[in-house]
Amino acid sequence: MLRNMPTAELMARADAVRRARHGNKTYYVHSHNLNPTNRCVAKCKLCSFWRPESAEDAYVTTLEDARRNLEKAQNWDLTDLHIVGGMIPELDLEYYETLFSLARELLPGVLLQGMTAVEIHWIAGNAGLSVRETLERLMAVGFGSISGGGAEIFHPDIRDKIAGQKISAQQWLDVHKTAHELGLPTNATMLFGHIEKDEHIIDHLSWLRTLQDETGGFQAAIPLPFQANGEALGIQYGPSGDRQVRVAAITRLYLDNFPHVRMLVNYMDRKLLGVLTHSGVDDIGGTSLDERVAKAAGAPQSQKFFSADEMEEFLVNHGHTPVLTNSVYEDLESDAPSEPIECGGAPTERRPPASAWKPILGRVEAGQRLSAEDAVLLHDTVPFHELGRVADLRRKQVVPGKLATYVFDKNLNTTNICTTGCSFCAFYADPGSGRGYALTPEQVVEVVKKAAAAGATQILIQGGLNPDLKLDYYEACLSGIRDHVDIWIHSLSPTEIEFLAQEEGITIRECIQRLKAAGLQSLPGGGAEILVDDVRERISPKKTRSQAWLDVMETAHDLGLKTTATMVYGFGETTAQRIEHLMKVRDLQDRTGGFTAFIPWSFSPSHTDLECPRIQNGVDYLRIIAMARLVLDNVPHLQAGWVTEGPDVAQLALQFGADDYGGVLMTEEVVSATGLEHGVTKEKVVNLIREAGWIPAQRTTQYDLIKVHAEK
Ligand code: SF4
Repeated sequence: MLRNMPTAELMARADAVRRARHGNKTYYVHSHNLNPTNRCVAKCKLCSFWRPESAEDAYVTTLEDARRNLEKAQNWDLTDLHIVGGMIPELDLEYYETLFSLARELLPGVLLQGMTAVEIHWIAGNAGLSVRETLERLMAVGFGSISGGGAEIFHPDIRDKIAGQKISAQQWLDVHKTAHELGLPTNATMLFGHIEKDEHIIDHLSWLRTLQDETGGFQAAIPLPFQANGEALGIQYGPSGDRQVRVAAITRLYLDNFPHVRMLVNYMDRKLLGVLTHSGVDDIGGTSLDERVAKAAGAPQSQKFFSADEMEEFLVNHGHTPVLTNSVYEDLESDAPSEPIECGGAPTERRPPASAWKPILGRVEAGQRLSAEDAVLLHDTVPFHELGRVADLRRKQVVPGKLATYVFDKNLNTTNICTTGCSFCAFYADPGSGRGYALTPEQVVEVVKKAAAAGATQILIQGGLNPDLKLDYYEACLSGIRDHVDIWIHSLSPTEIEFLAQEEGITIRECIQRLKAAGLQSLPGGGAEILVDDVRERISPKKTRSQAWLDVMETAHDLGLKTTATMVYGFGETTAQRIEHLMKVRDLQDRTGGFTAFIPWSFSPSHTDLECPRIQNGVDYLRIIAMARLVLDNVPHLQAGWVTEGPDVAQLALQFGADDYGGVLMTEEVVSATGLEHGVTKEKVVNLIREAGWIPAQRTTQYDLIKVHAEK
């Protein structure tokens, strides 16, 4: 299963087990982290946290420091205090007894969880005591639960290579067994995504399952994605989204005797975490304030939660019933948890029976075309994994073989000055605002030359509707590129072409003919947002109407220019309006066959003037990707969108019907203006495609193959 089962199916099975155990409940804690020292005698190869004593940033927390740290946290309404750190002789059993007493005095009622089995075994040895005696002394001063750290991977072939200084697997398990016998609950981690193989993952889980059968003392299994920062173990990339989802799902399915599966937000991006909560994970860990270990390993800090309210909002957004608890899952909630809001379709318990949608999905699986009415029903009622399973099958019919493509391109915005002022746009500057810029044709050609020299095969030029930049400006840019750079010109949206034709007082056809004569070779599908005028009137009243957008594309197709089509969703449009958008693209494609690909992405409201009723999450995105594949049965390619969804969820789209990872882009300004900071390199894209089980292939804008990356 871990090796071969399609990801969407594995997610669905693990989600079913998770729902059988916890229904819609998803747990989280409000935790503060205290890492007493980053010096450590073990110096594990996998660890980016430890520092040599001589290092400038090496530190040891004195008990006075600890008191100040704990006093600072007294009004934070914490549920957990998490104490884990390096091992040095100075921090002995007495130190931890005093520290725990301090914590019990200053943070009464807060669960004191911490210390790994490795630390406990080491401190016991230094004190000349047994593990049992050491645990009894720590429990006497308030120790409430052992964190699951230090487990890494149990198999000696791997453990010796990544953490040879640490205690053996059996010693780690013995510490937890002793704790369980003393009534001390514990968690268990598994560090994956480094040098281990699938069989080492299952071997690790088997050890845990066996001990759990014996003691029942484990609370949660915590698969920990390895944070690769190029140093530790010399590994460049940690486990990708697809790998994280697969390992989390198999952990849920295989550890049938563990109550909880927890994944920690401070090790991944939030969109991926959201998808994981629908793939077997019932616990998203905690706020981990002041957490240093993952931070030192380069984990994305921008994704962390800084308050329990933020975590509750996140879970509600994903259709869950949030349950604030602590790491031994005590019922702490005074008031009833907030009601989940619909997460891409009706919540599980309010969905019509499968009998309502199974026949429709069966017909689609058999190759029949979806009607708008059926598409709305599927979008709103079918579990997204199931949509993904069928969309993945359809993808394999439409784009047979094992290749997943990407293009090495450059995005270039000629100007941010724009007269249209769309409420969802964080990129534009009003004319005369002093914030605007406009590149000269010479500057444009120089930027494109550099991109081509770096390996880009496609240039995507777009920008604001700037009344100072007329058609001849764009003709100068395009012809300058055509005459001086060997690169494909995939540029200008229907909105820009409509604007240039109006400014010039010519027809759309004449405008496209002049741009084509200057070097334009294809059009990106920007400016489509939702092709329904009721929505456009609300979000961009001054922008191209739906039919005008389609007419520009039809004219381009008629003039022999291929184009792509896009969709931006999450403006509060209805499902019927989303499907209407897809149907309009499909209808035009039936007539012209001019669309090479479809690219959906979610609206990011930050730094824009538009409120959105609900932030679109990773589950919503995978649902839209699958729906696009099922509805657009005549558009060959479906592109994933890492810019808005992040590299990991975009990778998962390759398991939900997408066959293309899109562009490397090199730079991107429009979405980045909303604060999203994702970035990929060509090497990372190749790695992501390969980790998703596809063969990476670089393509041209027209989807001809440039290079197939040999299997590793
Ligand atoms: S989306 Fe485009 S047309 Fe609308 S304001 Fe932004 S740059 Fe201008």
